[in-house]
Amino acid sequence: MLLVTNIHTIGSSFCGCVGRLDHWRRAMRYVGYPACSVSNCREMAILGAPVEKYGSDDRTWYIVPLCTTHASGEVLPIRDEAPLASAVVQRSCGR
Ligand SMILES: [Zn+2]
Ligand SMILES: [Zn+2]
Repeated sequence: MLLVTNIHTIGSSFCGCVGRLDHWRRAMRYVGYPACSVSNCREMAILGAPVEKYGSDDRTWYIVPLCTTHASGEVLPIRDEAPLASAVVQRSCGR
């Protein structure tokens, strides 16, 4: 299980995608609505949240799909298999 810190940033998008969930889908080549990334949560994700890996030297941002409840969380345990889409455009959506 991986812990991530929810950055709770709002404002303009960092890339050319319609939104962060769209960014995640494009980076992951995923079609449709993914499940929330939080461990044991079975809700449908409604947004892509920018997160950092908790307690890691890796300070880059990642996007993970989250449900309404977890979108307001702070430090979240996410599933091992939960896909982290890099927020670095060159490594993800490329736009
Ligand atoms: Zn993007
Ligand atoms: Zn959730």
